[in-house]
Amino acid sequence: MRANDDAPTSTPSAPAGSSIVWFRDDLRLSDNPALTAAVERGGPVIPLFVLDDESPGIRPLGGAARWWLHESLSRLAAALEERGTPMVIRRGPAADVVRDVLRESGAGAVFWNRRYGQAARDVDAAIKTAGVDAGLEMHSFDAALLFEPWTVTNSSGDPFHVFTPFWRHCLTLGEPRAPLPVPPLAPAHPDPLATDRLEDLALLPTHPDWAGGLREANDPGEAAALRRLDEFARNHLSAYPDQRNDPAAEGTSRLSPHLRWGEVSPFQVWHAVMSEARRDAGNEQLQQATTAFLSEIGWREFCYHQLFHSPDIARRNLNARFDAFEWKDADPAVLRAWQFGRTGFPLVDAGMRALWRDGTLHNRVRMVVASFLIKNLRIDWREGEEWFWDTLVDADEANNPANWQWVAGSGADAAPFFRVFNPVLQSHKFDAQGDYIREYVPELAHVPAPQVHEPWTLQQDLVAKAEGEDGGGYPAPIIDLAASRREALAAFDRTATG
Ligand SMILES: Cc1cc2nc3c(=O)[nH]c(=O)nc-3n(C[C@H](O)[C@H](O)[C@H](O)COP(=O)(O)OP(=O)(O)OC[C@H]3O[C@@H](n4cnc5c(N)ncnc54)[C@H](O)[C@@H]3O)c2cc1C
Repeated sequence: MRANDDAPTSTPSAPAGSSIVWFRDDLRLSDNPALTAAVERGGPVIPLFVLDDESPGIRPLGGAARWWLHESLSRLAAALEERGTPMVIRRGPAADVVRDVLRESGAGAVFWNRRYGQAARDVDAAIKTAGVDAGLEMHSFDAALLFEPWTVTNSSGDPFHVFTPFWRHCLTLGEPRAPLPVPPLAPAHPDPLATDRLEDLALLPTHPDWAGGLREANDPGEAAALRRLDEFARNHLSAYPDQRNDPAAEGTSRLSPHLRWGEVSPFQVWHAVMSEARRDAGNEQLQQATTAFLSEIGWREFCYHQLFHSPDIARRNLNARFDAFEWKDADPAVLRAWQFGRTGFPLVDAGMRALWRDGTLHNRVRMVVASFLIKNLRIDWREGEEWFWDTLVDADEANNPANWQWVAGSGADAAPFFRVFNPVLQSHKFDAQGDYIREYVPELAHVPAPQVHEPWTLQQDLVAKAEGEDGGGYPAPIIDLAASRREALAAFDRTATG
């Protein structure tokens, strides 16, 4: 199977006028094949960004993602401006906007890096066809994935459904290409085109401005992404296997929003960590850490593989058995308790408050809070996926639904449904000293470990200290863990026999 727009459908001839580079999920200048090819074509480059909430099937961005996008675009626009190539920003259905910009500029070519969701591919394919029909050069490139989904097939020519053989197969396909440098941009188009102001896209929250925590916790943009990659590869990679499950440690790369927005490419990530590993080839710990870290990059590839082959992954159970699962009608009060971290289970609450405040959440805690919602509260995974979509700065149309389905057990190569994370045991194991909990749950700031994991076991004087400043106190558990687990497993059994 091939992507709708996976190969150039016209070959460069004599350059005609300017080239439009349509930036989408690739907000970077380095290792940007579309930009490099446009520069190589010669003539002025018109960098274009289109906020498209209107084309059919395009999923509108969530609030935290919109915040990140604003910040990232502002940095990209500044970097382009510095190089004398101002960015054109527009909003509306992409097909209309690209057509307008082509007409206004007289550009002879459009370049972009590929996207993999069905709606985006439909938009891109229609634009490419219209451009080719009009005699224009239309070029698309592989920049977001190391291995394009239609190139990875099993011996029968079918897509993989299990991660290990998928990734093992990818690793036989040859080393991913080396990253490209920032190309030398030609002088801007002589007549600047009309552009909206970034503020006109209204990506930032205003009434109220809830983004204070996001600003404090995150540093969007290509320069920050490259700094983080460098810092991780040099100073944290080797401890990755030991530290990656500790939510209070700086144990993971925190590259996910940068990868989501394409501020750094997986090719840059691959080569940064591989060159670190090769520099110290005799260091066995580093070699193992590199393999472990790259297999997480592999999970990202696998999620995109799933999105490409199952475009409705955010709505439909990949395993149809789950269509009959008896979800509970989500009681709004219970759902709110989960969303805002008032379940009475400290690790769950710390995670959900971290998500709300910072727009980020540690992977281990993502699994715990997702399992709690799906299995203990028995609320449909799609409710959780929607909430993450709105609150995560790295909300990603492949990684988010694929991981929710993984936790639910309804996905490809998913955790079995009967694997129910116990949030108290997980808390003891992965946040043993309670540092993560205390950071996000101020009501428990004075509670020592191990009681911090189970505040209902506290002695009375500590209960008094655990009273919140608002006098509300830390909530009692909203559910009986053992009973809810039993009920979930019984419901699961009924879907098999019913
Ligand atoms: C319920 C749930 C929802 C999730 N939603 C998202 C999402 O919307 N966007 C997102 O990028 N990740 C999502 N993840 C995957 C994972 O939690 C994050 O990618 C990870 O926490 C990001 O932190 P990091 O960059 O420090 O990861 P690292 O451990 O440093 O990993 C490096 C990179 O590998 C990729 N990666 C790591 N784990 C996974 C994984 N399980 N699946 C796919 N890619 C992975 C990410 O791009 C990450 O940046 C979700 C996981 C769960 C359990």
